[in-house]
Amino acid sequence: MTFIRQLCAVTVVLFCFAVRHAHSENPELEVLVLFDNTSAREDLRRSWGFSALIDFRGHRVLFDAGSDPTLLLEHLEKMQIDPKSIDHAIISHQHGDHLRGVYWVFEKNPKMTVHFLDNFPEEAFRRAAGVGMKPRRVKGPFEVVPGIYSTGIVDGKPPEQSLVIDTSLGLVMLVGCSHPGVVKLVETAQSQRKTDSIHLLLGGFHMLRKQPNEIKAAITQLKDLNVTNAVPAHCSGDLAKELFQSAYGDKFNTAGAGRRIVLDEGKLVISTLEARNEPTDK
Ligand SMILES: [Zn+2]
Ligand SMILES: [Zn+2]
Repeated sequence: MTFIRQLCAVTVVLFCFAVRHAHSENPELEVLVLFDNTSAREDLRRSWGFSALIDFRGHRVLFDAGSDPTLLLEHLEKMQIDPKSIDHAIISHQHGDHLRGVYWVFEKNPKMTVHFLDNFPEEAFRRAAGVGMKPRRVKGPFEVVPGIYSTGIVDGKPPEQSLVIDTSLGLVMLVGCSHPGVVKLVETAQSQRKTDSIHLLLGGFHMLRKQPNEIKAAITQLKDLNVTNAVPAHCSGDLAKELFQSAYGDKFNTAGAGRRIVLDEGKLVISTLEARNEPTDK
């Protein structure tokens, strides 16, 4: 009898472990920062620009592609991500620190669907044609894959598109450089998705040359717009990061190459992707 009881206990433990393991291997959402002005991991380098990879319900979407193709490909390799596994690439705006890497990723994965804004300079489309890429020309808002939406063109200098992911916790939003203004991008996304909150906002907030009172005003507006978690990256600037940290407290997080945002079983966890030696299926 004791043996059977022990056997049951072991089975229950193993079952729980298997379930937990299954979940952690297959979270609802995973966002990896591939390229940023800062680095969260010793073996990843910092460089001017931004790129992040989104895994959401079986789809893999690249958001921006950094300024340095060699470095982006190096980081993909170090994070054991096969460029061939990427379904879509969304380029937020025409600047090279977001656009440049995409031509090289495309050469590794010509099946990837690439989305440029319709008003990118002709040179960007010529370079694309040079590597056999036929980028889709984004105008208005659209659904990239089920549950991931582009805002479409938001006016600014230059215009920009952002991404929103409709998760079980609410919207997770990624912005490239926020040239139209981060508040305007959030407002646009909220009105398109008919919601009055954003669970997490990640990306370049473009506050590098802003005065403290301008940054504080933007933070107040973002709080009024119910932006719950803030992860300023890229062109946000150190001062903005400090001010966001003091305003958001434990709802603030740093980005940097190697940062990993995971939404699993209704919980959001921000950590740094561990360096692994053994090959994975990524
Ligand atoms: Zn820019
Ligand atoms: Zn930028």
